[in-house]
This record gives sequence, C-alpha cells and structure tokens, in this order.
Amino acid sequence: MNKQFISEKIKKDIFQINEPWNREGCNIFLFKKDNSCLIFDVGLGLFSIKKFINKLKIDNFLVALTHSHFDHIGGIADFMAEEFIVPKVIVNAMQNRSGWALEYLKAENFDESKLVNLVDKTAQQICNDFIIQIPDMIPIKKNIINWFDYCFEVIHLGGHSNDSCVYYDHAHKILVSGDLLYNGEIYTNCYSSDKKSFAKALNIISQLDFEIVLSGHNKIMNRKKALFVVQKWLSDLS
Ligand SMILES: [Zn+2]
Repeated sequence: MNKQFISEKIKKDIFQINEPWNREGCNIFLFKKDNSCLIFDVGLGLFSIKKFINKLKIDNFLVALTHSHFDHIGGIADFMAEEFIVPKVIVNAMQNRSGWALEYLKAENFDESKLVNLVDKTAQQICNDFIIQIPDMIPIKKNIINWFDYCFEVIHLGGHSNDSCVYYDHAHKILVSGDLLYNGEIYTNCYSSDKKSFAKALNIISQLDFEIVLSGHNKIMNRKKALFVVQKWLSDLS
C-alpha cells in the first residue's frame, strides 16, 4: 500500500520521516518526548505531516527549519505561528519566493506509482498547484534551543542558501545539517548559494564534535562518512 510518509526510528526518541513519493524529498527529523516533539523541517506539504505525527500520540509541537527551500518548508502551513522556533535569517528569507528553489520542483522528481490511491493528481498538476503559505512567525531571540535534555546551538552558516543553518547538540553529539551536508551531490546553483561561504561552512562543520549527522537528504551519516563527504564537497567547490 502506498504511504504518505514513511518513518524510521533512529534512536529511542528520534525518528526520520520522509515522503516516499518524492525522490528529491527532504528528511524530516522528529525528536519525541511523551506527547511532545521537536521537528526539524517539514517536507513538501502535499499531505499533512501534523496529522501523521498525531498518530504517534503527539499533540505538542515545536518546529525548527534548516533553510527556506520548498522541499523543507512546504508543510509549514500545517503548524501554528507559535509552534515555530526559527532564526530570524530564515524567517526573513522565507518572505522571498525567489529563494524557495522552486526551479527544482519538477514532475520528474515524483514517483507517480507511489502516489496512486493517495492523491487524484498528476505529478505535473502537483507542481502547478504548489503553494506555500508562510505563517506570521516571530523569530527566536537566542540561538539556543533547549528542549527537554537536548540543547541545540543554532549556527547560521549560509553557503547552500544564504539562510542555511545547522543545529548542533554538543552533549548528544548530534548535528542536524539540512542541505549543508548530506550523502549526495552538492548543489551550488540555487538562488543565494555561495561557494565561498559553502566551503567555509563545511570547514566549520568538520570542526564540530558530532557522532551522527541528521542530514537534509538521503541516509543519515556517522562521523566518518560525514567527514568523507565534507572532503568530497570541498574538492567539488574548489
Ligand atoms: Zn536546500
């Protein structure tokens, strides 16, 4: 049976969720504690991520975002403005539709066989009808997110897009990297991509003491794999 979302448990309280019908779809990471969750990115938004998460008996949401590309923010209309904990640089960037990377929203990136019985539209119609309604959110005041025993430092690095941020929990050695680092091809031609900042960002990332990278796309990485990709991307950038 086709599914709107697929979720995989990474650790006791961390889940990786993706949209299986979207080949280029971003990873959504969900940290769960009782009936509360902290989410990083919200996917394309074709289906309600909130309803899906509700099935995990969660009704208390905090939503962080790594950057304002459509595949990471498409689902934001599902949430209320006060549920977001987003740095100012991303709140501002979201106002500019040119920065949503919509040039990469293509019918060929959808697997229509996985959309059968889920939606009564072709991939092309999904692209044509795609809209994002940006809630009127208030940016976070401090670049720290304390959530139960997690403490994420919000690090604005730019590079992939001028608003790209990573979230780093030193104690748990977790890095949520968005599109600044994932196991795949580097994209440097988006609106507001900057190769020099990208290289600087990768150098900063490689200095962080993480053991696990919760990446914006593809499989999550251990430190060894992540540092291998950093070196590959740095050589692609030079
Ligand atoms: Zn991106």
